[in-house]
Amino acid sequence: MDLRLAALFPDLLNLYGDRGNVLVLQSRARRRGIPVEVLPVGLGHPLPDADLYLLGGGEDRQQALVAPALEALRPQLEAAVRSGAVVLGVCGGYQLLGHAYYAADGSVLRGVGLLDVVTRHPGHRAPRLVGNAAVACVLDGVGTLVGFENHGGRTWLGANARPLGRVLAGFGNNGRDRTEGAWAGTVFGTYLHGPLLPKNPAFADYLLRLALRRRFGDVHLSPLDDRWEHAAHVRAAERAGVRLRGA
Ligand code: GLN
Repeated sequence: MDLRLAALFPDLLNLYGDRGNVLVLQSRARRRGIPVEVLPVGLGHPLPDADLYLLGGGEDRQQALVAPALEALRPQLEAAVRSGAVVLGVCGGYQLLGHAYYAADGSVLRGVGLLDVVTRHPGHRAPRLVGNAAVACVLDGVGTLVGFENHGGRTWLGANARPLGRVLAGFGNNGRDRTEGAWAGTVFGTYLHGPLLPKNPAFADYLLRLALRRRFGDVHLSPLDDRWEHAAHVRAAERAGVRLRGA
């Protein structure tokens, strides 16, 4: 058994340390004896066959550079998802997994439509949605998600996307409907930076199990010593103003 991780446009989509999500998945797999191959995908590069595709965050400028290259990979991404591959987009990467991002300067960046969401930036004069956040995640066994958000875009979910969770603290998708993130099948999007996965080990393992299922079926992941990850999780929740039960 092995894991193939593709990092899409890592030089451009990597705000607030989102590359840390790749490192955490790599570490949590290797500590269980699962070899990992990390496949960076640059602008114009073909999409490699992988079990998990990651997109980090980016300012509007980086997103404008990435969007055409990502759209060119749409057929291959759709085929990968049909084969059971997992996709995780964070913030700017999340926005481009949707149908479109209407950017701050009025330009329209087409997304790949893997998530039924649309994002609209209300313009540079509008307040950004910034701060520590905590979310009650809907995924089995994940519990709370914690992280940091900083986005101008407001994301609205269509009928075929489900919220990743309910905002306990922070703004979430749009600062209005108390939803955060979106998911459909094996495709996930969230506004939580930090990076996300070091402080959310249950979600990291959820993604690992799902990605390994693609080629190996149901896989048992042995427990890891996550005392530091849990301590960071609790502290991040506190910084968002949320005191976790049992903490
Ligand atoms: N540029 C996008 C926005 O402002 C995404 C920002 C991000 O990835 N942190 O909403």
